[in-house]
Amino acid sequence: MKFESKTVHAGDRKKAGNFIPVTTPIYTASSYAYDSMDQLDRVFGREEQGPSYARYDNPTVSALQDLVNELEAGHATIACSSGMMALHLSVLAALVDRPKRVVAGHVLYGATTHMLMTIFGALGVETTFADASDLPAFEAAISEVKPGAVVVESITNPLLRVCALDQIAAIARRAGAPLIVDNTFATPMLMRPLELGASIVIHSATKYLAGHGDVLGGVIVSDAENFEVLNTLLRTIGPNLGPFEAYLTMRGIKTLALRMEKQCANACKLASWLATHPRVAKVYFPGDPAHPDAATVKRLLPSGQYGAMIAFELKDGAKPEVFALMEKLQMIVCATSLGDVHTMMLYPAMASHRDLSPKHRERLGIGNSLVRISTGIEAIEDIIADLDQALGR
Ligand SMILES: *Cc1c(COP(=O)(O)O)cnc(C)c1O
Repeated sequence: MKFESKTVHAGDRKKAGNFIPVTTPIYTASSYAYDSMDQLDRVFGREEQGPSYARYDNPTVSALQDLVNELEAGHATIACSSGMMALHLSVLAALVDRPKRVVAGHVLYGATTHMLMTIFGALGVETTFADASDLPAFEAAISEVKPGAVVVESITNPLLRVCALDQIAAIARRAGAPLIVDNTFATPMLMRPLELGASIVIHSATKYLAGHGDVLGGVIVSDAENFEVLNTLLRTIGPNLGPFEAYLTMRGIKTLALRMEKQCANACKLASWLATHPRVAKVYFPGDPAHPDAATVKRLLPSGQYGAMIAFELKDGAKPEVFALMEKLQMIVCATSLGDVHTMMLYPAMASHRDLSPKHRERLGIGNSLVRISTGIEAIEDIIADLDQALGR
């Protein structure tokens, strides 16, 4: 089946008694009984499939996991309470039996950098940050550090760099370190890191997968090698996604292909328009032919679909000018998050990368004039008109 067909069929329509529900119901039960104690014993022993307790299994969550697993071509998938939980559990799982060292991309989602530095750091895990878009530098960091895990984003936040995932996967594999890829910005429609050799893929399902601004969730898609440890951590610690969120995420994914197609097309038009605006100093967009990773983009992303995230620098702008721009917007929503059906604008220095010091942000190229846009599904004319009136001339 093609991707868009999988989004509406995978995981759903499992037989329940003598009927088949066309969409998976929301199962709220925290535990499950069976006809005989022998059967319950087999379920507990995982000799027979079936739910027993909500921390181990939930039929609504399982349906979502089956769906995402199909889309990302994984061995098995775990849904959990947030994207950060998915990342935390993945790094933890990778390091259980491996050296307590991580090599990570130097520009990541702010909370990811923060988590590696402060939470894992406090537990004695050493993280080395290197530029994942500079392959020789990243390879050198891996050979020097000999890490237990490598963490990168397929399309980085907020500067939208695209690293050579296939080559990084090969390097990590030779070093014996699982490559963990945050694929939130690309979605499985644009990139499937496991097919490129990665070991674990995570998503903030809060973003494109759910897509409607009403869910907090995460997923971990694993290869066979890393799944057992991940599953043990899930069953022991209980970072599970709830059934209501699982239902909403599954409902959202049914239109993922349609939404992404429109959002990517809108983003291409918006990025071109922004590049010609006199108040815009610089546009960051993977579809730009002059993008620093243009060759990798051409190799790894589908032609014409470069994601729907755009960043730009406001000419002679700093916090007051950026705030004034954001307050003038009438349709575009100024709030944290991305990937929703509506267009959103965010100020990374205040929101996604707030936890980093100003010096650290400056070093990463996240300046005080940088603004991030998540392009929605509205008419492109309306998105451009709103930005045009807010930017002024
Ligand atoms: C939002 C986001 C996260 C964190 O996900 P939550 O669901 O907010 O916990 C991680 N990585 C990226 C790229 C994100 O955009």
